[in-house]
Amino acid sequence: MKNLLVKNGRIIDPANSRDETGDLFIEGGRISAGPAKGDFETLDAAGLVVAPGLIDIHVHLREPGQSHKETIATGTRAAAAGGFTSIVVMPNTTPAADSAATIAWIRERAARDACVNVFCTGAITKGLNGEELAPFGALAAAGIVALTDDGRCVQNHEVMRRAVEYARMFGLTVMDHCQDYSLVGDGVMHEGEWSLRLGLPGWPRMGEEMIVARNIMLADLCRSPIHCQHISSAGSVRLLREARARGIPVSGEACPHHIALTDASLHGFDTNFKMNPPLRAQEDVEAIIGGIADGTLTILCSDHAPHAAYEKEVEFDHAPFGITGLETEFSAFCDILVHKRKAISLARLIALFTAEPAKLLGLDRGTLSPGAPGDVTLIDPDLEWTFDKARSLSLSHNTPFDKHTWKGRAVGTIVAGKPVWQAEK
Ligand SMILES: [Zn+2]
Repeated sequence: MKNLLVKNGRIIDPANSRDETGDLFIEGGRISAGPAKGDFETLDAAGLVVAPGLIDIHVHLREPGQSHKETIATGTRAAAAGGFTSIVVMPNTTPAADSAATIAWIRERAARDACVNVFCTGAITKGLNGEELAPFGALAAAGIVALTDDGRCVQNHEVMRRAVEYARMFGLTVMDHCQDYSLVGDGVMHEGEWSLRLGLPGWPRMGEEMIVARNIMLADLCRSPIHCQHISSAGSVRLLREARARGIPVSGEACPHHIALTDASLHGFDTNFKMNPPLRAQEDVEAIIGGIADGTLTILCSDHAPHAAYEKEVEFDHAPFGITGLETEFSAFCDILVHKRKAISLARLIALFTAEPAKLLGLDRGTLSPGAPGDVTLIDPDLEWTFDKARSLSLSHNTPFDKHTWKGRAVGTIVAGKPVWQAEK
């Protein structure tokens, strides 16, 4: 294995409160204190930020079972092209990742095909059916980093309580896609003025907030962490803020589309704006940005959810929920949160993608401490670029951000000391 010297960059390592210009050494695939002897391949990072490798804890790779949408090979190439060195994949594959055998299959396939680190989640319930708990002990032994039924939501509160208590025995965080089925029904977009105008069934904020409130009570009762995925409503942010102030171990995450777009984007019935939870109103956008700024929401992620073109090219009601996002999320967040809204600093943005997810899930990543894995992302925070979905490395192109221009981009991705992707100049 070659050694790598990343020269003259601005090293921002939030885990160590470090922000200084210097050289970073990677030896034998790990960060080293350097300067060391031996041969180093040199990478000039002058004018760039050198950050710990970015982590996205909410990604759908679609393997096994739905490889027409995405594969571990294509999905991890898209991740690398977004600056990500580690991704956490959701269990709603076919079959669902509810057994040690399926986790082993994904990990073996990732070892063969993936160009970034792939961490697995296991299902909370068998077949994501919300009824019978999956074998957490066997899943933990197989190497999962968290539990979730993402795509689905456990409706039975007793089952969820047992899940959180059982997860605590293995030190695993339970992550939840917060959706009350009785309130949401067949809703396909935010319930509000636009759903009325367009005549589409509404998905009310309360459908999310009810489950966020349930999770706060369960986390309090069980004294075990629950992480609320892809928060979309102002009320959910408020609930999480109050609960965290009371010391309850709950957390929340935000996706770029929920701060970049509103439900007005659906005026043309374009299914590339259909995701779950849905795009909401401007007041929700403001609340989510406020929640990121004040530390209520500590995780940023894509909810990368690829679907084939023929699946999305149907009537709005019938199209599947979800959009791709790995290649655009860092830029969208950097542009909106750091440049346009000045809600957080660049160092905090990097922390939200590195130290925070590593802490939440106990990953040995997200830092440039000597001895840590040599995962590094090079960032040009002022680079203006335009995303072209025709050049996406994902197998699917269901994005609402085609031809969007942003300021700030990851321009190089290094995994275990090996450059795996570099932006074209
Ligand atoms: Zn979800």
